[in-house]
Amino acid sequence: MKDEQGKIFDQSNRPLRDLRISVTDRCNFRCRYCMPEEVFGPDYRFLPHTQLLSFEEIERLTRLFVELGVRKIRITGGEPLLRRDLPVLIRMLRSIEGVEDIAMTTNGSLLDKHAESLKEAGLDRLTVSLDSLDDERFGRMNGRGIKVATVLKGIEAAAKAGFSVKINMVVQKGVNDQDILPMASHFRGTGHIVRFIEFMDVGNSNGWKLEQVVPSKEVVRMINEEMPLEPVDPNYYGEVASRYRYQGTDEEIGLISSVTQAFCSTCTRARLSAEGELYTCLFASQAYDLRKPLRGGASDEEMLEIIQSIWNKRNDRYSEIRLQNTTGLKRNKVEMYHIGG
Ligand code: SAM
Ligand code: SF4
Ligand code: SF4
Repeated sequence: MKDEQGKIFDQSNRPLRDLRISVTDRCNFRCRYCMPEEVFGPDYRFLPHTQLLSFEEIERLTRLFVELGVRKIRITGGEPLLRRDLPVLIRMLRSIEGVEDIAMTTNGSLLDKHAESLKEAGLDRLTVSLDSLDDERFGRMNGRGIKVATVLKGIEAAAKAGFSVKINMVVQKGVNDQDILPMASHFRGTGHIVRFIEFMDVGNSNGWKLEQVVPSKEVVRMINEEMPLEPVDPNYYGEVASRYRYQGTDEEIGLISSVTQAFCSTCTRARLSAEGELYTCLFASQAYDLRKPLRGGASDEEMLEIIQSIWNKRNDRYSEIRLQNTTGLKRNKVEMYHIGG
């Protein structure tokens, strides 16, 4: 399925519009919900550099994805800022005609050093993950005792460099739900939008249980009691976060309700792992190796055909199915650090 402009569609008529590119599988954090230390300890073998896609390979693939309809790019990881010379890649992607938006998700710990060069290279937007403003809880959650101030410094540097920053907070009942209100009030009025994310059953190692999810409705109720909220219309088709603003202001928060309100029907995202595997869903158990044909000398036309046939076959709707089977579905899933969320 392809329209006159060359855009491709999947089995549910969803176009391919977003590409999330993981540039490394390594991370300097060990968030318990993503890369628990007991699984990702000192002996864990991460990918050797030769297996990572080079910047040239990422650029070529991105150009091909754009030909098929992709308009928005998100750079992620692992921790993307561990990849050396990242601004060079941003500049390469920025020069691809048709790319409308380049964003990055980072844990913020190295942002202080890199914010300005990322801005100069043409990065449009930044999302910084921060789960608590309490050093002890945050240190425990990131598994490395990293201080809140380190991340706040990164956020400040990003704002100074001219970025609009979004803050991602993964909420886990009994772990950091007491931080919902402090996070909302800390960032209110700063221009940075906090987005509360429901803890998801990604991967196989985070021991997910439905009881640990704080439904977005509950988050809205809690904040609304202290600081009255009103809903805001979505910005565009397929927007993942539902938006609220503090009544009578333009200060917003966002809710990403991946568990309680699945948004598969408008999901237009493809994910490329650091070693060049294509995933058509965050919960996919199957990957498509694009590096092999890429390094095997496939022409652009051949690569386009491969990507198109993968997308045309796509029928993923994991979160919708999970809604009907809330114990978490048993299947062997890709890990979050591998494809970057
Ligand atoms: N290292 C970067 C960071 O943490 O921002 C980028 C990669 S990280 C995998 C991308 C996002 O996924 C982060 O905002 C993180 O909080 C979120 N994430 C990881 N595991 C998650 C889970 N089990 N449920 C919900 N969000 C999760
Ligand atoms: Fe690293 Fe991000 Fe995963 Fe935390 S969520 S372990 S920072 S990749
Ligand atoms: Fe998209 Fe898969 Fe998430 Fe559904 S479960 S919104 S198809 S990534």
